[in-house]
Amino acid sequence: MDLYEYQGKELFRRFGIPVSEGRLATSADEARAAAKELGGPVVVKAQVLTGGRGKAGGIKLADSPEEAAQHAEAILSLDIRGHVVRKLWIEKASEIAKEYYLSATFDRGEKKALFMLTKEGGIDIEEVAARRPDALARLHVDPLEGFQHYQARRLIYGAGIDDRDEQKQILTIVERLYEAFVGADAMLCEINPLIVTPGGEVKALDSKFTVDDNALYKHPHIAEMRDLEAYPPEERAARAKGVTYVKLDGEVGILGNGAGLVMSTLDVIALAGGRPANFCDLGGGGDAQGVADALEVITADPQVRSILFNIFAGITRCDEVARGILQALGQTKIEHPIVVRFDGTNAEEGRDLLTQAAPPNLYVEPTMLDAARRAVELAA
Ligand code: GDP
Ligand code: MN
Repeated sequence: MDLYEYQGKELFRRFGIPVSEGRLATSADEARAAAKELGGPVVVKAQVLTGGRGKAGGIKLADSPEEAAQHAEAILSLDIRGHVVRKLWIEKASEIAKEYYLSATFDRGEKKALFMLTKEGGIDIEEVAARRPDALARLHVDPLEGFQHYQARRLIYGAGIDDRDEQKQILTIVERLYEAFVGADAMLCEINPLIVTPGGEVKALDSKFTVDDNALYKHPHIAEMRDLEAYPPEERAARAKGVTYVKLDGEVGILGNGAGLVMSTLDVIALAGGRPANFCDLGGGGDAQGVADALEVITADPQVRSILFNIFAGITRCDEVARGILQALGQTKIEHPIVVRFDGTNAEEGRDLLTQAAPPNLYVEPTMLDAARRAVELAA
């Protein structure tokens, strides 16, 4: 789960990483009031779950509350790469002498946390890595050894930070970032830029914070931060029903069980000359109600022209899935052609149930490829 900048900064603050004071605003009036309360120059920042807001015009400095309101007005109507701005973070403006970059990510290859630090901050880290790889210091932290001070010092020297006062502050920030990273079960904690003010104070001016979805149950206060309105309506409906759903841009709606099977179904649709409109993963479950829920989610997408059920049943039983399909057809009027391929547990029984009921828009196919071809043909 990705957090907004202001949420990430709230966690930074909780873990003792210095950030500027700010307020959330959802209108120009609120932005004006926030700027007045904070006093002095402020920065008006679009809160969207994507980076590069500065370049897209989503970050503006304001000298007065009036100016903050004007910027708020302009930014609130922005669409930043498909993300509509609905919230603003109004923060006390900082003076910037230097912009550094610091992050902690999870390096799956090494099975360790990986810190990256460079003095070339404020720009995309990919650009630094490509243009000046030597300027990027890296440090792996062994989860069993834990965080060691001497390692962090190596990171800081490696990045070429030679000011004693900066070294001390950054050492503390690196240590706390590791605590935040581990403490919140994060996948990414990125500070870009980590600034040094003209007075020599180091602080986090931005935050990119991603928490492992599978660990959210341990962090109810973070789970609560999820902004349901940031998701497309179909994805919200799917989430509410506990269905895994991903929107794509073709015409064939796909229902499968298990991520691997669903992925190969996408490939087979492409092989048959079609394009998937979306996919739903029934997971290991696939009881009748779950199937009915998933069908409801899929058919809510107006781009869907045909639906392909690709079930390889292990724990899931094909007769249960067949009942779900029939139940869904009984509950709601679904006019899309539905193509079904069953294999595995009770495939025979499942196919029998469907052939007996014989809804006019249902097609049972023997193999995955036959089913994909039929679904693509029916979507044309
Ligand atoms: P991003 O573009 O989405 O990464 O948003 P950031 O929060 O990183 O802001 C982009 C840039 O705006 C920063 O690199 C700074 O140069 C500038 N900026 C952001 N906040 C301030 C501020 O308080 N004062 C000044 N002078 N510049 C700021
Ligand atoms: Mn940034």
